[in-house]
Amino acid sequence: MDIDSLLDTVKAKVACGQCGAESERTVGWLKANAASDCAACGAATDLTTPEWKARIQAYIDACTGFA
Ligand SMILES: [Zn+2]
Repeated sequence: MDIDSLLDTVKAKVACGQCGAESERTVGWLKANAASDCAACGAATDLTTPEWKARIQAYIDACTGFA
């Protein structure tokens, strides 16, 4: 299995900064998108912040460790 396919199977939670609802996304989706819209209130969570970039990279590193 290649890394991109693997990342598309790994789920991560995105907590909305506005209402706190959690949206489930795959790591592959997070890697490919700059923002995540909340399923509950529609607020966009910016995925390009240093915090999110580090978090996404940590997921990717964890996945590549299994490959
Ligand atoms: Zn929300």
